[in-house]
Amino acid sequence: MKRLKAVAWKLTVEVYSDPASELAEKQALLARRIYEKIRERQPYELKLLFCKKCKSYSPPMLSKRIRIRNGMILYTCGRCGATYRIPFK
Ligand SMILES: [Zn+2]
Repeated sequence: MKRLKAVAWKLTVEVYSDPASELAEKQALLARRIYEKIRERQPYELKLLFCKKCKSYSPPMLSKRIRIRNGMILYTCGRCGATYRIPFK
């Protein structure tokens, strides 16, 4: 289980190196699936990659609009248009 978690984390980190690629989307989805399987809490960095509403892959650097207000990060999903806040870690 520990090893799977390490793999999932590595995938997450790799997504950040090139979030625009098709591979990155697959890696993100795979990482999420691993965390679900081993029932571990997903890291903040992985959650950021997905829209809270439509659950689609929308990395902050690509499809999301980001605003910072009152110490909160405000996201707008580029796919469904949902706006939601994520507090700073
Ligand atoms: Zn969305």
